[in-house]
Amino acid sequence: MSSKVVGGPTLEQKRRIVTAIPGPKSVEMQKRRVEVVSAGVSSTLPVYVKRAGGGIIEDIDGNSFIDLASGIAVTTVGNSNPRVVANVQEAVEQFTHTCFMIAPYESYVQVCEALSRLTPGKHAKRSALFNSGAEALENAVKIARYFTKRDAVVVVEHGYHGRTNLTMAMTAKNMPYKKGFGPFAPEIYRVPTSYPFHDGLTGAEAAANAISRIEKEVGPDQVAAIVIEPIQGEGGFIVPAPGFLSALAKWAKENGVLFIADEVQTGFARTGSMFASDHEQIVPDLITMAKGMGGGLPVAAVTGRADVMDSIHAGGLGGTYGGNPIALAGALGAIETIEKDNLVEAAKHIESIMIPRLKNMAKQHQLIGDVRGRGAMVAIEIVKPGTTTPDPETTTKIVKSCHAEGVLVLTAGTYGNVLRFLPPLVISDELLNEGLDVLEKAIVSVS
Ligand SMILES: *Cc1c(COP(=O)(O)O)cnc(C)c1O
Repeated sequence: MSSKVVGGPTLEQKRRIVTAIPGPKSVEMQKRRVEVVSAGVSSTLPVYVKRAGGGIIEDIDGNSFIDLASGIAVTTVGNSNPRVVANVQEAVEQFTHTCFMIAPYESYVQVCEALSRLTPGKHAKRSALFNSGAEALENAVKIARYFTKRDAVVVVEHGYHGRTNLTMAMTAKNMPYKKGFGPFAPEIYRVPTSYPFHDGLTGAEAAANAISRIEKEVGPDQVAAIVIEPIQGEGGFIVPAPGFLSALAKWAKENGVLFIADEVQTGFARTGSMFASDHEQIVPDLITMAKGMGGGLPVAAVTGRADVMDSIHAGGLGGTYGGNPIALAGALGAIETIEKDNLVEAAKHIESIMIPRLKNMAKQHQLIGDVRGRGAMVAIEIVKPGTTTPDPETTTKIVKSCHAEGVLVLTAGTYGNVLRFLPPLVISDELLNEGLDVLEKAIVSVS
C-alpha cells in the first residue's frame, strides 16, 4: 500500500454529524456553484466532499456520512481503493494518453482479457472500450445493427440506458431524463417488462406479453437487438420474475435477434455474482459495462461474441479517449480487488444482512410495500400503507431524514418511490447496520 494514499484506507470508519446538513462551508460552496455550474446539473446531497473511503464520505465541514450509494454503484471496491490508487499513480507517471487507435498499450489488452474471462459464457469473445455507460450502449446498438443488418431495437418499460440522444430514446422515464430534449432517435420500441410487485405475473407470462408485442408491432425479422438490464436500476431495482429473461433470450436466439444485457449498474460483483446475467444462466450476445468497472475512473466496455464484434470494419469503433490508460489502470485495480478480495461473496454477505432486516421493517411498517434486490443492490418500495400505490412524498421525507442523520441513500423508480441501497462492497457490518438503524428511525418518524 502506497504511503501517499490519504483517502480510503486511512479514513476513520465512523459516522459523525457536527453541523447542520449542509454545513456552513458547503453552503458557501453552493453559493459559488450556482454562479457558474448549470442548474441542469443537480446534486442529491449538496455537501462538498473532502475525502471518501471504505463506507464513509467526509465533507468539508467535517461531517462523515455512511455511504449507501457508492456514487451510483461505481465505487464498488471503495473510494480511493489502495490497488486503484497505486495503479493510477504508476500509470500516470508513465504516460497519460497516446490514443489506443494511434499507438496501443498493454493495459487495454489486459482489461479485455479480464472481460473475456469474467463475462458470462465460455465462447470466443472480443471487447471494445469506451468512457461512459451511455457510450457503451450507443456502440452496442451500432454493432448489433451492423451485424444483423436490421434497424429496430427493443427495450422495456422502466428501462434506463443513459442521456445521449440514442440512449434517451431507449430510456423510459420522461422526467428528468427526456422532457424537452427530443426529437429522439427512431426505431426504438418499448415493450412490457416483468415487475412482480406491480404486475403479479410469472416470468413466462410477462415474457409472453413482451414477445407478443414485438411480434405484432415490430416484426421479429426487423429487430436487431433486445437491450435489457437484468435487474433494472434507475427504474427501481426491479428484479424480474424467474424465467422472464431466459424466455426473452431464447426467443431472441430463435429469431436472429441479439440479446444485449445492459450490466452498466449490475456488473462487477454488485449483485452477488460477477454479472447479474449469471443468476439466470443467461449468456448475452453482447454485454455493456461501466460503473463498477473502473473503481471510480470513467471507463466502459462492450464485450460479446467474437463473430459479432469482429464483423465491424477497422476504424468503425473507437473514440479519442476510449480505454484511456489512467482509467484502465483503475479498472485493473478494481478487477484485481473484486477477484482477490472475493467481493462477490462480500455482496452476498451484504444481502444476508440487508434483506432480512428490511423484511423485518416491512412487517412492522406497512408503508414498505416491497423489499427486493440481489447482493448489494437492494431497495424498498414506499407505498400508501397496505396498497401498491406509490408514495413519493413519504419517500422524499425518509431520504431527507437519513441525510440529516448522516446516511447517504438514493431514490429510484418511475414513480419516485423506491429507496435504493448500493453500499460499497468493502463496507463494515457495523456501518451497514448503523445505516439501517438510521433508516429504521427515519421510517418510524414518518409512519
Ligand atoms: C448509469 C447507467 C447507464 C448510463 O451510464 P453513464 O455512464 O451514466 O452514461 C446505462 N445503463 C444503465 C443500466 C445504467 O445504470
